[in-house]
Amino acid sequence: MSTRFAFDIHARDGKARTGTIRMLRGDIRTPAFMPVGTAATVKAMKPETVRKTGADIILGNTYHLMLRPGAERVAKLGGLHQFMNWKRPILTDSGGYQVMSLSDLRKLTEKGVEFRSHIDGSKHMLTPERSMEIQRLLGSDIVMAFDECPRADRPRDEIAASMEMSMRWARRSRDGFDAGGEHAERSALFGIQQGALDEDLRKISAEKLTEIGFDGYAIGGLAVGEGQEAMFATLDFAPAQLPEDRPRYLMGVGKPDDLVGAVERGVDMFDCVLPSRSGRNGQAFTWNGPLNLRNARFAEDQAPLDERCKCDTCGTYSRAYLHHLVKSQEILGAMLMTEHNIAFYQLLMQAMRDAITEGCFAAFAADFRRDYHGSRD
Ligand SMILES: [Zn+2]
Repeated sequence: MSTRFAFDIHARDGKARTGTIRMLRGDIRTPAFMPVGTAATVKAMKPETVRKTGADIILGNTYHLMLRPGAERVAKLGGLHQFMNWKRPILTDSGGYQVMSLSDLRKLTEKGVEFRSHIDGSKHMLTPERSMEIQRLLGSDIVMAFDECPRADRPRDEIAASMEMSMRWARRSRDGFDAGGEHAERSALFGIQQGALDEDLRKISAEKLTEIGFDGYAIGGLAVGEGQEAMFATLDFAPAQLPEDRPRYLMGVGKPDDLVGAVERGVDMFDCVLPSRSGRNGQAFTWNGPLNLRNARFAEDQAPLDERCKCDTCGTYSRAYLHHLVKSQEILGAMLMTEHNIAFYQLLMQAMRDAITEGCFAAFAADFRRDYHGSRD
């Protein structure tokens, strides 16, 4: 019998774990990095190229897709997988975070969030029930509960009240998802822990989520400007508050050194726009730290972006050519740089999976930090 959702942990090393999430549309090797396909596309990349970099799963954004082209339209066209030609698992966020960060004229109540589209000013309502419906219409494999993500620097009573509401929304998300018929039998639902940087609030949140019961658990409310030190301090306790046998997903993270530090603290899944956005802005990630290809020192540099990277960009094109493309704002520059960055992130995840399997993650992390911070552009 095929599996709707299973998580097998193959090896542990300290708090780090490596395993496989099994779903109907394919396996996801963990620790996993999910490239972000905001508007049904990982910007500047064909889906087949995204797969070739080693990505097992991508992320789609509910907020963007509900506004354009619309969830009902995507459903009519056969669902998001068919629409964008990605056959493997897709995780969709709930729309909550982006409504708060992108839309105009928001009105937040217990029922949900009323807002105006940043595209055409049209009025919309997003509730836990509607978010579950949209993610079902898109045909998402991993559905995220609808939550509110307050800024980490808000007063504690505000963070607590917001977390409590998100937990009530998590219950409504669970009920809405379970009412989804066939889709609920083929997909998975993740809850999202809130509570900002506060250990006690995080614990309450984790207990409430565990009581409701989810396939996996996300750590939300981090990477919102608190800085790496505060994020790591929170990750020193947050993952252990969540069920040990379920995947833990740190939302919206991060830089390569964030990923290594978070895996070291027990996180299994990540998503971030950074590798694709940076690629479009001329920044390449390498084992020796980020490179800014706008820099004149690359104008006659015949080396690849990274000696150890096996991507097509590194196998074919020089830093000098990429420097020229980036300086000339050529579309190919964005394409080649994005491909490298996504491939580099997947290479990093594979290296972490191997190090955990071999029981040498601490040494791997020390080597990584030495090389990555050794030479800054
Ligand atoms: Zn490369």
